[in-house]
Amino acid sequence: MRPAPGALLVVLLCGSGCGPEERARMPAQQEAFAVVRQELGRLFAEEMLHEPDVRWWTKPCPGTQISAVVLGPRCYAGLYYRPGGVDVAWRGSIGQSAYAHELMHYFLDQAGLGSDPGHARTAYWQLVERIDLQLQQQGL
Ligand SMILES: [Zn+2]
Repeated sequence: MRPAPGALLVVLLCGSGCGPEERARMPAQQEAFAVVRQELGRLFAEEMLHEPDVRWWTKPCPGTQISAVVLGPRCYAGLYYRPGGVDVAWRGSIGQSAYAHELMHYFLDQAGLGSDPGHARTAYWQLVERIDLQLQQQGL
């Protein structure tokens, strides 16, 4: 069966240049999630704290040297926009990437609190900053 012309165009445009890298998990991701899980256990029921699918983006935002989640014309450090997981730009380590940040959006949503795209729940986002520092201090 011939593919629809639109589908063919997408394949041609995205065949080599866009989308997250294939690599499914980063080194130390399991250790990093253990840290996140322990800290988020203060705010969320432990049984809901399962790591969702994480897509790592390693290619630079077009026109820059900085890796990004690239969606259409825009670049992001990370993004929670799909039900099953989060997208994160790899910035050299997990603690320097928006991993804990996007997981917070995800778990807030899972907990029925809304994903808080405007970061209005200050205490939650302060905890994210502390988690990132902890990850960095542990070399993760
Ligand atoms: Zn955010």
